Amino acid sequence: MSMLFVFSLFLLLDVPKSCNAEKNYTSFMLVQQWPEGYCEYQEIVGAKRRCKSRPHKFTIHGLWPQESNGQLITNCTVTSNLTEKDIKPVEPQLHSNWPNLIGTDLNFWQFEWTKHGSCSENEFPKLQYFQLGLHNYAQNNLMEILEKAHIVPNKTHLYNATDVLSAVHKHTQHDAQLACYVDPNHNASALYQIGLCYADDGKTYKNCPNSRGTCRKQLMYPK
Ligand code: 5GP
Repeated sequence: MSMLFVFSLFLLLDVPKSCNAEKNYTSFMLVQQWPEGYCEYQEIVGAKRRCKSRPHKFTIHGLWPQESNGQLITNCTVTSNLTEKDIKPVEPQLHSNWPNLIGTDLNFWQFEWTKHGSCSENEFPKLQYFQLGLHNYAQNNLMEILEKAHIVPNKTHLYNATDVLSAVHKHTQHDAQLACYVDPNHNASALYQIGLCYADDGKTYKNCPNSRGTCRKQLMYPK
């Protein structure tokens, strides 16, 4: 009975699942970060490494295999580490659109591959995985998408989270997921990431769960 209990407890634990590259994800989330938000967040939490650049556009954080409820599937068996050679054909696009804001780009890509990309390796080997991220990113210029709804970076203005979500919905016809931090200077929620969800083919949009994510009903889009 105790073995059964321990086993059931293990299944119920709400922690990211480890796996090998067997296909047990049902969706992907393409996470784009807003550099002004991410970098300010780093400063607020007193992170040791500060941003070395702040591109004036959303950039890619990662492409994450996950379950339908949004639970991440991470740290799968890595058959071999990512090297620069693996992604050579798309390296310029990666430097521009998937930069490491706080360190070396290759280190960030290697980290994202090991933690997330390796979990969909059977369907999307290294190069295809990074190409998929870049492809989906190119179809969703979030700064432009928000600007069309008159949502632009501002030092103090508060936007309704529902307006941010509906601006993205207009473009993808699906629910995105927001991520915010608390800016103690303004006692306000501030945007630093937007995730877009896809079916397991990595291409077909799907609704993300928990659209408002870690954001309050009103949020800043930091400048
Ligand atoms: P993840 O959020 O994918 O689980 O972890 C991201 C890791 O990459 C963190 O350890 C973070 O410190 C590191 N990292 C390096 N550069 C960046 C960056 O530009 N953005 C983000 N979000 N994380 C980065």
